Amino acid sequence: MALKTPEEFIESIQRRKLRVFMNGQKIEDILDHPVTRTIIESNMASYAWALDPESKDIMSTFSPLIDEPVNRYTYVCQNNEDLLAKANAGCFTAEKLGTCIYRCVGLDCFHAAWATTWEMDQRLGTEYHKRFTEYLKYVQKNDLSVAGALTEPRGPRDKKLLDWPNPYLALKVVEKKSDGIVVKGYKINISGAYASHEFMVLPQGTRRPGEEDYAVAFAIPSDTEGITYICQYNAFSAERLLTDDIFELGNPLFGQRETSVIAFDNVFVPWERVFHCGEVDYSGKFVARFARTHRMTCGGTCKVGFMSNIIGACRLLQEYKGMTKVPHINDQMVQLMILRETARACGLAAANLGSEEPPGSGVYMPDEMMGNVSKLNVCEAFWKAMELAGDIGGGLIVTMPSLRELKNPETKDYIEECFSFGSPAGAERIMKVTKLLQNWTAGLHGVGTWHGAGPPQAQKIMISRITNYDREKALVKEKMNIKD
Ligand SMILES: Cc1cc2nc3c(=O)[nH]c(=O)nc-3n(C[C@H](O)[C@H](O)[C@H](O)COP(=O)(O)OP(=O)(O)OC[C@H]3O[C@@H](n4cnc5c(N)ncnc54)[C@H](O)[C@@H]3O)c2cc1C
Repeated sequence: MALKTPEEFIESIQRRKLRVFMNGQKIEDILDHPVTRTIIESNMASYAWALDPESKDIMSTFSPLIDEPVNRYTYVCQNNEDLLAKANAGCFTAEKLGTCIYRCVGLDCFHAAWATTWEMDQRLGTEYHKRFTEYLKYVQKNDLSVAGALTEPRGPRDKKLLDWPNPYLALKVVEKKSDGIVVKGYKINISGAYASHEFMVLPQGTRRPGEEDYAVAFAIPSDTEGITYICQYNAFSAERLLTDDIFELGNPLFGQRETSVIAFDNVFVPWERVFHCGEVDYSGKFVARFARTHRMTCGGTCKVGFMSNIIGACRLLQEYKGMTKVPHINDQMVQLMILRETARACGLAAANLGSEEPPGSGVYMPDEMMGNVSKLNVCEAFWKAMELAGDIGGGLIVTMPSLRELKNPETKDYIEECFSFGSPAGAERIMKVTKLLQNWTAGLHGVGTWHGAGPPQAQKIMISRITNYDREKALVKEKMNIKD
């Protein structure tokens, strides 16, 4: 049976020996650590959902590759129905978790790798696609969580890669051996890698002739020798480390969207795990195809689920505070619904209009235009949702005392009286919902949504690249009888 139980997932994650650091300290056990544990909880949920009769149709599907049911997060889409099911699964996981399902970047890397290795084998006579499909079978059979790593620190942006003062600001192949390659450098902002079984590496960007050592894609186990993870650290991490009441944290079990730097210190990758090495003309294709798939994920699915959490919290506060008949708040609630449903519509359109890319490869990708529009739309929509929720929730979102006051005999009565707002809901409920809104409106999600899947300028460049305005110009000429 390809589907792991949550217990089997934990057991398999526990076996690995990793070098993980946070806040200047080594983390000995990522299962035990209050921050890193949140990634494991999120991924573990995807194993439970794939077996749960209520959600298994969303979270699992049948893979002809291994002739068995597999988790949706290891399955490469083969038609538009698959893309729609993928979009649906993205909304579902984001609603339930209120943070990343950390298997999604790896899944979108699979799509890019399937398409581009297939194309390379067709045109260059390589055997990358055979290697990749063998790898994917291994992932599916063992139901592995796989993260995805593209983003690199990079050198001065006004200089070409080979002119950077340090050659390791992008991941570089430093040695080719008979049995594999050795890589050195960094990937940054990588979601959930240390709590996954494996991660896929793709190039960050297009590569030019002369940059062959930077044209590389592969997959390795997360505990490969030479890998060090340095975790993100912010006020939310610090608060989670300090508190003994996880409800203080807005998202008690699943936490923030946790990322890390991955340092590669002469890491060996066997050839059977290398899917691109030196073919500079294809690096950009890996990236573009990843972006095409991932922008639907980020713009049209996961932010839909996030906005459902915001909407739920706003409505509860509206009810708790006796504001259900306030016209401008009701109007804001409708605006929130429109923002969410527009995001969902973009995601569904991208899936529905998706196509086989490249033709003959067998892999389906979301429509390029609608995928990019999804992400660009959500960049603005999410800030707007944060603004509306901030207004509905009030200043208490950032000024509220700790939930621990409810357990302190010296302050408990004041806090209960003060923050019940005279509502039968009581102070604890109101404070918990307000904490959840603090997480969404006064935390990491605005910038995270803006930059995740690439900053808006990247989507605008792609949209202008695929647009020539010929059709629109022809419409005007036809109407006005303008001849060339
Ligand atoms: C929550 C979160 C999770 C993430 N998870 C992952 C992950 O799992 N895997 C992964 O690979 N990445 C991940 N990322 C990285 C994400 O894709 C990048 O943050 C994004 O591509 C932006 O890159 P950057 O952060 O380096 O910003 P920058 O590239 O520094 O962008 C900052 C600004 O500079 C501009 N800019 C950058 N370069 C140039 C240039 N050459 N010329 C002109 N303008 C330029 C940009 O348009 C933007 O306006 C994640 C990011 C976030 C926030």
